[in-house]
Amino acid sequence: MVETKVLTESSVFGQIAEYQHEQVVFCHDHETGLKAIIGIHNTVLGPALGGTRMWHYTSEAEALNDVLRLSRGMTYKAAISGLNLGGGKAVIIGDAKTMKTEALLRKFGRFVQNLNGKYITAEDVNMTTKDMEYIRMETKHVSGLPESMGGSGDPSPVTAYGTYMGMKAAANKAFGSDSLAGKRVAVQGVGHVGTYLMEYLQKEGAQIVLCDYYEDRALEAAARFNARMVGLDEIYDQDVDIYSPCALGATLNDDTISRLKAQVVAGCANNQLANEDVHGPELARRGIIYAPDFLINAGGLINVCSEVQGGNRQSVMTQTERIYDITTQVLQKAEQEGSHPQAAATRQAEERIAAIGKVKSTY
Ligand code: NAD
Repeated sequence: MVETKVLTESSVFGQIAEYQHEQVVFCHDHETGLKAIIGIHNTVLGPALGGTRMWHYTSEAEALNDVLRLSRGMTYKAAISGLNLGGGKAVIIGDAKTMKTEALLRKFGRFVQNLNGKYITAEDVNMTTKDMEYIRMETKHVSGLPESMGGSGDPSPVTAYGTYMGMKAAANKAFGSDSLAGKRVAVQGVGHVGTYLMEYLQKEGAQIVLCDYYEDRALEAAARFNARMVGLDEIYDQDVDIYSPCALGATLNDDTISRLKAQVVAGCANNQLANEDVHGPELARRGIIYAPDFLINAGGLINVCSEVQGGNRQSVMTQTERIYDITTQVLQKAEQEGSHPQAAATRQAEERIAAIGKVKSTY
């Protein structure tokens, strides 16, 4: 997996210090074979919330780096969205197909419970609703449960709505109008969020070019959205106004940025910039308006937050709609400061954490 912030430290505490984590918990259980790491980045604003991912990492160092990077991203996502949540994430090391058992998941749940609510988990890569139900048997600090269990349900439609809001704000900056009618949009990855996003795009009259790793999925989406399907690598060369990464991270890198013809990049994928200190400025230098990923894909977190801290569908959608205004502010700030949007968004998140930290300094 590709880093978005290049670490210079290799020791465990060196890495923790560099990312400025509060606490990192290594969980081990001989019986079940559980090896997990819980990264709690920052809890100034509230409990650290973020999903658990199970992945067959090639090394423990890779797993540690992944959890540190992902949990830090959750801190910024919550902070910039005005949520009273901190940033956390967990990884379970192993092959989900062969190693995931009820006992392993419940053992992991007990480690989450031991943190007494400082970390709240949720679903992430290779975890299912059923897995969450097992974890829930050992701890109440689980979110993102299905609606039938009193949870907030599938976050994807809300994530798509926020991404759409961020895309419109970025379009407004680039084209002088936030209308997407007639705009050519390249959607990379037509999974859960990508599909909901294309519903908004189609409604507004955008022309869609798309690709997906699964050809049948891409073909089906192309038929449904009257879109043109292209190959996985061809997506970067399309003559479009907007490029929307909705699949994997790190797709904005040394090889791809020079190929883009789009004036706007706005998508839901996490960690789109392979190296934020290099590729954020590079996009700005080329005059491409980049809507920061952790800002415009925060709808899912806003949805989950309502489950933990209260709220209903209407308040969730209203809060998600604010992504438009926040994106506008961030783009303006980046321009004024002569920086790039990812840096401006990160700074805005850090400023809120610092300010609220001072509010809490007295009883
Ligand atoms: P998903 O798995 O449903 O969809 C991803 C799609 O991308 C799949 O159809 C997959 O086949 C495709 N894909 C994978 N590699 C590809 C490639 N190289 N080129 C083209 N397509 C490729 O996932 P999702 O829930 O829609 O999430 C999409 C992205 O948004 C992920 O990066 C995820 O981390 C991020 N995200 C999702 C949410 C959410 O609410 N689901 C919230 C925040 C961020």
